[in-house]
Amino acid sequence: MPAQNADSSRPAAKRLTVLSGPSGVGKSTVVAHLREVDPDVWLSVSVTTREPRPGERDGVQYHFVTDEEFDRLIAEDELLEWARFAGNRYGTPRRPVQERLEAGIPVLLEIELQGARQVRETMADALHVFLAPPSWEELVRRLTGRGTESEEVIRRRLEVAKVELAAEKEFDTTLVNTSVQDVCDELLALMNAPKV
Ligand code: ADP
Ligand code: 5GP
Repeated sequence: MPAQNADSSRPAAKRLTVLSGPSGVGKSTVVAHLREVDPDVWLSVSVTTREPRPGERDGVQYHFVTDEEFDRLIAEDELLEWARFAGNRYGTPRRPVQERLEAGIPVLLEIELQGARQVRETMADALHVFLAPPSWEELVRRLTGRGTESEEVIRRRLEVAKVELAAEKEFDTTLVNTSVQDVCDELLALMNAPKV
């Protein structure tokens, strides 16, 4: 008889999915929709030093922290990855992600390019998905139309967006955000596909 797998009673660890793409492409919109469609997907709540936008609540969209608290999280190795983005710092708390993955729950990270690269180094079997805009003009329209940033911040984010768009080929797959519903369906199909 084949030896019994000592871990057979534990749920199989589900895949970690990283969703990345330029600011304004629609990542938050897609993720919010995806969570309505499939509440089983767990979205990591990042820490950030940026100020909350109107309507954002601490612990929901982000854990909003001071620079000192962010320094402490780095020093105590509590972040799976972190990066500076357009004047602020953002990071993924490590423990909640590990706990969900060990419990067999699919985990989604919505993070920028440098963080995605760190995850690729440390978690080899993560699935990396790039969300692309239908065109540059549409990206500018969305970022400007959101109305949440000053002209200066929009300018900085568009500069970063050029770098992020150039990194598309580093990702396992690209989804073009023309329709939020279509992107959600495609993303869920990818997350539920068997690992290869
Ligand atoms: P990100 O999280 O990538 O910075 P958001 O989710 O905040 O982007 O979306 C930026 C803006 O684009 C928002 O005003 C949002 O309503 C809009 N948006 C998102 N997806 C689409 C889409 N498929 N078509 C049209 N507008 C969209
Ligand atoms: P925003 O300020 O628009 O909410 O986010 C700015 C950028 O930071 C987005 O590209 C978003 O995906 C990214 N981001 C959010 N949380 C994290 C995180 O924990 N780590 C990293 N590296 N990027 C993040």
